[in-house]
Amino acid sequence: MRRKGILVVVSGFSGAGKGTLMKNLIKNYDNYALSVSMTTRSPREGEENGKEYFFVSKEAFEEKVKQDGLVEYACYCDNYYGTPREYVETQLGMGKDVILEIEIQGALKVKEKFPAALLLFVMPPSAKQLKQRLAGRGTETPEVIEKRMRRAVEEARGIESYDYILINDDLEICTKELHSIVSAAHNSIDRNEEFINNMRQELNVLVKGEK
Ligand code: 5GP
Repeated sequence: MRRKGILVVVSGFSGAGKGTLMKNLIKNYDNYALSVSMTTRSPREGEENGKEYFFVSKEAFEEKVKQDGLVEYACYCDNYYGTPREYVETQLGMGKDVILEIEIQGALKVKEKFPAALLLFVMPPSAKQLKQRLAGRGTETPEVIEKRMRRAVEEARGIESYDYILINDDLEICTKELHSIVSAAHNSIDRNEEFINNMRQELNVLVKGEK
């Protein structure tokens, strides 16, 4: 039986280390496809168009929305972010586990459209460390850091909508935990209904045949 891909949503406070975690996951395991989002925010130093994001104008973003080309989109700290539909559908069709690294509003929309999606929330070991990591990045102004900390307070209220939390203290341990959760999800009852029903039918046929 061919394994179906799982849509894995990874959210977490800005500065929780999601980006590094995703890169490490892709480096260590080959069954994942990482979706590249579209955004209207400006690239940070070192970011490349098509790698971290597709950086587009507000007009181009709105056009994509009009064409129904995004699985979901949201406004986060004054910028638009959205998940291009085509890549997600193609990769899932190929049996890949597709990772969407998105914020909470988008995550909830995905859960509505794809109830079988797996929702994970990455947290730092403490709130203090979150602020230190945001400041240590050196790419954000104090105002942006403040805005992102306030946003973390809001997002912390919505964690109950997620399936699992991941505490990103040690990168390697956190990567293994993430992979274990996705692996276990492949064996959940609700993701294997077809297999289970076939098994039931075959059992029935065999039992009847034996009479
Ligand atoms: P950053 O500007 O730090 O790269 O991302 C800001 C936030 O936007 C993060 O929480 C990130 O997960 C989220 N984000 C990135 N891409 C998407 C997307 O396609 N859709 C949604 N809803 N959020 C996204």
